[in-house]
Amino acid sequence: MAGKKTPNPEHVTVDDEFWSPRVRRTDTATVDTVYRQLVESGRLENLRRAAKGISGDEQVALENRMYRDESDVYKWLEAASYALSRRSDPDLESRVNYVISLLEGAQRDDGYLNSYFSLHAPEDRWTRLTYMHELYSAGHLFEAAVAHHEATGESRLLDVATEFADHVVDIFAEGGGAPGHQEVELALVRLYRCTGQQRYLDLARTFLDERGREDSRFAREMVNPDARLCTDEIYEEYRDLLFDEDGTYDGKYIQDHLPVREQSTAVGHAVRATYMYAAMADVATETGDDDLAATVERIWSNTVRRRMYVTGGLGSSHENEGFTSDYDLPNDTAYAETCAAVGSVMWNHRMLQLTGEGKYGDLMERTLYNALLAGISLDGTRFFYANPLESDGEKHPLEHVSKVRFPLQRGEWYDTPCCPPNVARLLASLGEYLYLVDGDELSVELYAGSSVRTTVAGSTVTVEQTTDYPWDRTVEISVHTDTPVEMTLRPRIPAWCSDPTIAVEGETVTPDVERGHVELRRTWRDGDKLTLDLPMPVRQVEAHPEMTAAAGRVVLQRGPVVYCLEGVDNDHSLENVCLRADARFSTEYNPDLLGGTVVVRGEATLTATADDESLYRSRTSPANETVTVTAVPYYAWANRDETEMRVWMRACDCTH
Ligand SMILES: [Zn+2]
Ligand SMILES: [Zn+2]
Repeated sequence: MAGKKTPNPEHVTVDDEFWSPRVRRTDTATVDTVYRQLVESGRLENLRRAAKGISGDEQVALENRMYRDESDVYKWLEAASYALSRRSDPDLESRVNYVISLLEGAQRDDGYLNSYFSLHAPEDRWTRLTYMHELYSAGHLFEAAVAHHEATGESRLLDVATEFADHVVDIFAEGGGAPGHQEVELALVRLYRCTGQQRYLDLARTFLDERGREDSRFAREMVNPDARLCTDEIYEEYRDLLFDEDGTYDGKYIQDHLPVREQSTAVGHAVRATYMYAAMADVATETGDDDLAATVERIWSNTVRRRMYVTGGLGSSHENEGFTSDYDLPNDTAYAETCAAVGSVMWNHRMLQLTGEGKYGDLMERTLYNALLAGISLDGTRFFYANPLESDGEKHPLEHVSKVRFPLQRGEWYDTPCCPPNVARLLASLGEYLYLVDGDELSVELYAGSSVRTTVAGSTVTVEQTTDYPWDRTVEISVHTDTPVEMTLRPRIPAWCSDPTIAVEGETVTPDVERGHVELRRTWRDGDKLTLDLPMPVRQVEAHPEMTAAAGRVVLQRGPVVYCLEGVDNDHSLENVCLRADARFSTEYNPDLLGGTVVVRGEATLTATADDESLYRSRTSPANETVTVTAVPYYAWANRDETEMRVWMRACDCTH
């Protein structure tokens, strides 16, 4: 692989107070919860019925099962495989092997694998790429197979995947189609890295370049309703998403509005978009395609400057589950799908591999600690699909759209349960995101107690991190090597940190921050230590003035963690809280609250409400009250009672 490499995952161990318990819960509680849902929802039964050789009444699909069902099975397999790479668990292993045997049974002789089509419409494979997710599901199979192979050394699932991939290559290598929901592109690059088969990388690139053609295949498929396979409801939903009122095709929803190399803004469905951008970075890394690299960097800049929540969440509207217009980032109706946070972490990790620029590590960090973690409950068994930044604690403003999708508290499962297994596979593979190696450089991209054993400058080196990040500012990094090794350690300096101190063997050094990192080149000897001090005062963060949802408001952030106010901690209206620019804050680690967290307290003004009940009045200076507000990390919200929540608080410069 070209670009910067992620050390082999089995050689990274996360061992700290923040992530380790989360990874452990993912390996157990989350993986268990998702498996139970795969069984109860009939997903596994449907796969069994799709097996070759089953006949008669049994060879009928369960009602209500969908063409995208297998993707959830595959994401579970991927998460379960990471879990098995950490610890032996015979029960989990037998579940994994059982599911693999179902897949082996359901795979057709030509390699094709999708239970919905095999049971419902075997003649209609590959005819509805726009909305029927065959390629999307295939991509998740490929990812699961690589994870399973790397975790266990076994090839059973990888064989299923490569047989299917070869079939997909046969159908699509010459062009003529692309996935309506991206995912298979990045998965093909993963499969290429695992197997070395060039045809998978070539197909990933072909799929990218098939988008945005003048005579869109997606549009053509949609104007032939007789042959459609899904329900009227789904067909109509897609028609509304893909065509203007006058019937003109507009492929933005599926990023088919322009050839990818001509795209410059993040548009459409956010999960599709992030998966596609991740694949663009992958293909650019592998092929040295500078044009593609420049394109994806351009889209990234547009996204972070105009179309991203302070949490790193992406996609502000439920209507297209995606991007809308610049600075349109409403709080209470924020979509910010958990899967889009997963996609963003994957995308930024690939941008790091492509460029080594710290700004991508910054965003990976922002998204992980905020948008992504908010998607899963502290006990690992409940999930948000959408992640609002404000709640009145009584009724989600989009409840009329779907009570299930827009709850006040996380749910265990959803009608489209893409998020639970997605957040599981991301957390279960967290170790892959910490370090990058490139020749004689080792970059530290995320701070977490951990160790990595890898080859740098031709030598086997173990690098250990000790830290109580994100609660504590100190990170100690030590090098362990049999022989002294000349190499560059590149710790990322987070953009939120304005005055870091770096010491090597106790001596303060003052290297320039280059590309978001400090580069410490020297001969490292066994036991050498690097100490980072990253002061993390509570900061008030404001938004670009064009972002109306945050006008006159601020967010509290400490280190990478975005804070919120919850009604359960504050005995007054949250809407009337007003923070002065010079407000002082105190911080305290509370091991018993929300799984252990730093709590932020500060003095604020509570704007008095009018004494009379008139709607309008002359502007007054009401007698205000001073209160102490208590803020907790945003990711931990809604883990106690149903309660009011605010991320953006009123700011004021007045003197009271
Ligand atoms: Zn999702
Ligand atoms: Zn004020």
